[in-house]
Amino acid sequence: MKLLLASNNQKKLKELTRILEGLEVRLVLPREIGGIPDVDEDQPDFAGNARKKARSAALASGMWALADDSGLEVEALGGAPGVFSARYAGTHGDDAANNARLLRELAGIADERRGARFVCALALARPDGSSALEVQGTAAGRILRAARGTHDFGYDPLFEFTEPGFAETGRGFAELEAEEKARVSHRGRALRELAKKLPSAVDPRSA
Ligand code: IMP
Repeated sequence: MKLLLASNNQKKLKELTRILEGLEVRLVLPREIGGIPDVDEDQPDFAGNARKKARSAALASGMWALADDSGLEVEALGGAPGVFSARYAGTHGDDAANNARLLRELAGIADERRGARFVCALALARPDGSSALEVQGTAAGRILRAARGTHDFGYDPLFEFTEPGFAETGRGFAELEAEEKARVSHRGRALRELAKKLPSAVDPRSA
């Protein structure tokens, strides 16, 4: 089975490929088929955007397609930046500006009110564009007061992972090696859930 990874974000593709490598599917990258159409991410939630991106890529390629939508939800900001995470400061994908805005918005907010979570929604579409499977993963933490770590992607340098086993050591997401991050991240969790359910979603007889 061929599975198109419907994302143009190189860092995401790297994470997706690393976690799905063990499955018996041939992963196809957008560049192998001359690219995938841009999609307006205008849905109110992560699941809606992921579904829209997977459908568009499946219809354009005639393949099974997997798309993700992800972002950061900060408690003290009522869930913002949410679906606007990639363009929080105006320009899509400007991580430095997005991080600067997040720090500005949270200036003066006490540590105990800086709780946040990353969310990743994954959607698998059949070649005809219909939805075959949707899963979601989360990772809980809090927003730091200054950037930390070197493995930077998006808001990672400002995100301290506080779930059991990590809270004691206070590890920032940008301080985790790729494998460590994949074990605990919202995307890693969503992907493992997807990997578990993929066989029956692709072939209902194996359920
Ligand atoms: P989209 O899913 O491409 O619409 O954008 C998601 C945005 O959320 C990214 O541009 C990042 O700013 C942020 N984001 C999603 N996942 C992560 C992550 O694992 N680390 C840091 N930032 C992330």
